[in-house]
Amino acid sequence: MHRGAHRPYTGGGDEAVRCAADTGRMQVSTQETLERIFDDVLRRNPAEAEFHQAVREVLGSLAPLIEKHPGYLERKSLERICEPERQIMFRVPWQDDTGEVQINRGVRVEFNSALGPYKGGLRFHPSVNLGIVKFLGFEQIFKNALTGMPIGGAKGGADFDPKGRSDAEVMRFCQSLMTELYRHIGEYTDVPAGDTGVGQREIGFLFGQYKRITNRYESGALTGKGMSWGGARVRTEATGYGLAFFAAEMLKAQKTSLEGRSVVVSGSGNVAIYAIEKIHELGGKVVACSDTDGYVVDENGLNLELVKDVKERHRDRISTYCDHVSTARHVTDGSIWDVPCQVALPCATQNELTIDGAYTLVKNGCEIVAEGANMPTMPEAVTVLQEAGVRFGPGKAANAGGVATSALEMQQNASRDSWTHDYTEERLSELMRDIYWRCEETAEEYGMPQDLVRGANIAGFKRVADAMHALGLV
Ligand code: NAP
Repeated sequence: MHRGAHRPYTGGGDEAVRCAADTGRMQVSTQETLERIFDDVLRRNPAEAEFHQAVREVLGSLAPLIEKHPGYLERKSLERICEPERQIMFRVPWQDDTGEVQINRGVRVEFNSALGPYKGGLRFHPSVNLGIVKFLGFEQIFKNALTGMPIGGAKGGADFDPKGRSDAEVMRFCQSLMTELYRHIGEYTDVPAGDTGVGQREIGFLFGQYKRITNRYESGALTGKGMSWGGARVRTEATGYGLAFFAAEMLKAQKTSLEGRSVVVSGSGNVAIYAIEKIHELGGKVVACSDTDGYVVDENGLNLELVKDVKERHRDRISTYCDHVSTARHVTDGSIWDVPCQVALPCATQNELTIDGAYTLVKNGCEIVAEGANMPTMPEAVTVLQEAGVRFGPGKAANAGGVATSALEMQQNASRDSWTHDYTEERLSELMRDIYWRCEETAEEYGMPQDLVRGANIAGFKRVADAMHALGLV
């Protein structure tokens, strides 16, 4: 079954019918209960489509676990996990360079702290709203659990668009946001990091204001810091590198490798750039990447230094890549998934890989899809890919390298230590291998070999729900 099932409770399609016939009354009652739980989530969280989508996917995976361990239902573990522990929304007033007053909205959803302090990024993007932050926070619970590290799940952000803003404007915005956020976060409470629109520059301004207000150099209160002020090596690269390691492990499990494989990576931000870097190092050839204005194809393999120069140094459009490479072309209509590849890595944003994109990937012989972004593949597209035999790595497993390395940054901050690049990268690579096998083995254990979506959801859910049970009804 796939995360595209309309009903979350069945375990899906033909298999659900088969299970129902096999197990009779027990299966029906599990289905009804899961249906009621999902309906309740819909009723209590109206107009939050992305959150509904994320909950549906997780609930849609849990039937086999619940059949085996009905205690999760009796203890209402599912209902509890779907309800954030705390949701904070606040006004962020600031002045732009012309002196005009601007008002944005800040959000922090502290979803679950059974495994450790809340942990999850901040996103600055005009599309940010409560439903998007809740979907990201919900995903983060299971992702963080899959890393095996002691971190809970949270997410936050603001409907602020840093694009086209001066450094001074970004600083004033970050300072205003932190003037409220500081009272909710801390090394033992909630540890935000970056996400879309929040890189090292923003983390610096946020950390500076936190330090000023609290009068504490509490490095462990934020991750994604610069190396000279408490940051960790490989954090910048971690999500992209981790994704490449995960994709390599998916191929290795199929007794093959990235060597000589043609790869398409959507986006050209933090995740995409470092995924490209590591894919190239591991022998793959990335032939396309994108931004919101279109995609660039370079059949000879992308020149990564040029991509970095355009996107990281000049904060420019990816189309300018073609000003420097005569064989490359920029395409503004169609989809990046039209570019033939064996490995597809969606690394831009949620719901960017549609059902049409999935059909095209299948037609062009794509072998694996691994998600660098959070929930970039639409549910129906996941179904198409899985049914066609394309191996699918869900984001909550495949992009967990970023948050895992954030947890390593917290460890270094706590021990006032600083690890080498090679040691940190080795830890990251081991973590990604462990996550892959945790998903694979769980899928196998629950009778769905190779289904990494269900494997990830069951393994992540089980770890959190068991910890919640141990901590009592809190
Ligand atoms: P980022 O640095 O802001 O980059 C996002 C990139 O995607 C930009 O190149 C952006 O283009 C492009 N993009 C956005 N929407 C697009 C669309 N509809 N079509 C084509 N391109 C589009 O963000 P990021 O940190 O790389 O994060 C990307 C995704 O990974 C998000 O889903 C995020 O939640 C997830 N993620 C990030 C991390 C992390 O450590 N950063 C960890 C786990 C998951 P423009 O330049 O035109 O804006």
